Amino acid sequence: MKYRAIKGVKDILPGETEKWYFIERHVRDIFETFGFSEIKIPIIEKTPLFVRGIGETTDIVEKEMYSFEDKGGDSITLRPEGTASVVRAYIEHGLYNSHPLTKLWYIGPMFRHERPQAGRYRQFYQIGAEVFGEESPSIDADIIVMLMELFKRLGLNETELQLNSLGCERCRPLFRERLLDFIKNRLPMLCEDCNRRFESNPLRVLDCKSKNCSEVIRDSPSMDGSRCEGCQRHLDGVIEYLLITGIKYRLNPRLARGLDYYTRTTFEVTDKRLGAQDAIAGGGRYDSLVEDLGGPQIPAIGFAIGMERLASLIDMGDNLIPPSSPKVYIAAMGEEANRKAFDLLYQIRLRGISGEMNYSDQRFVPNKSLKSQLRKGDQYGVSYTLIIGDNEIKSGKVILRDMKRAEQEEIDIQDIVEVLVKRIGR
Ligand code: AMP
Repeated sequence: MKYRAIKGVKDILPGETEKWYFIERHVRDIFETFGFSEIKIPIIEKTPLFVRGIGETTDIVEKEMYSFEDKGGDSITLRPEGTASVVRAYIEHGLYNSHPLTKLWYIGPMFRHERPQAGRYRQFYQIGAEVFGEESPSIDADIIVMLMELFKRLGLNETELQLNSLGCERCRPLFRERLLDFIKNRLPMLCEDCNRRFESNPLRVLDCKSKNCSEVIRDSPSMDGSRCEGCQRHLDGVIEYLLITGIKYRLNPRLARGLDYYTRTTFEVTDKRLGAQDAIAGGGRYDSLVEDLGGPQIPAIGFAIGMERLASLIDMGDNLIPPSSPKVYIAAMGEEANRKAFDLLYQIRLRGISGEMNYSDQRFVPNKSLKSQLRKGDQYGVSYTLIIGDNEIKSGKVILRDMKRAEQEEIDIQDIVEVLVKRIGR
């Protein structure tokens, strides 16, 4: 084959898109109930937004961004994640002036030049949610409850919620020192990336996906015992609120996450069925990001769900919406019949019934025999076929064929739309 999709980028074909639509319907429903409004953010942004927002020493910024110079000489990047753009939009449009609490959600493709493998793509979709303007732990719990409720409604019952608090600018440096001390002696045992991370951002070593590295740092210092009193109280508060709703969680004091902006609460939802790339969603609090990107000091928290991974876990079962197939096929023999078929097709579609017809007009392409047209109707899997020939036009009738029963009858042309509406039920 001459042209193929780029490595790590995949088509979502009919059959699969119905599943995506099913997920999106639940997302809209639940997120709106929790008070979120949708924001549509651009796919491209100026590169410095991501460098500043995500952090210069993260894997994403160091090696995974699709950046290019546009014709005006600006460095532009295909968004690798949504939070930086949402924060930019929040500041740019002064959204903090309208409501004390701003709750936004988005959906769309993200781009990261990662090594493609099962569950890891270079273009992938994320559904994300962000809340601005609240520091209390109840909002952390609220957003986690919303996420877990979504998974529950989608029928996922093997997920695990991992929870941590990465502390704040007061207590995290202490933890960083303890971690540096621990890693220093083990550097030769760690991968090349971790050696680089050690210099720039040792917390990232905790996030390394290599089996060997995870083994080496298994007993590393964790955030437990390093948090200041305020951060510990905040984490306890998140747990207290989560317990009210009965949501199960596992504390993982080594949960780091790959982005620099997180402060205090971080969480990840995993599902073992996903294999090596087992995270379906991740998120956390980012209390300094709005200010870092030039806005006022406003605390915030959010998460992002990986759509491909989520879709791969959903068994549609009884909810399976079959790929849309036409209900009616119109077979037409003759010029006049073709025009009548076109008119009827338009009229039934106006009434919400999907249909197809024999489009081939003998003035342009050789006519198809009635038999081959009927076969086509069969292939579509329609419930009814209409047959119109020049004779039918003369007598003002059409033949209505019930495909399942293999029965047919003559109906007056002017009644046929109503008859179909009645039988198909719309
Ligand atoms: P992150 O933005 O890195 O916190 O990721 C949030 C979620 O997006 C992850 O839990 C994954 O489900 C999904 N995700 C991240 N990177 C990829 C990727 N390269 N391919 C597919 N899904 C991804």
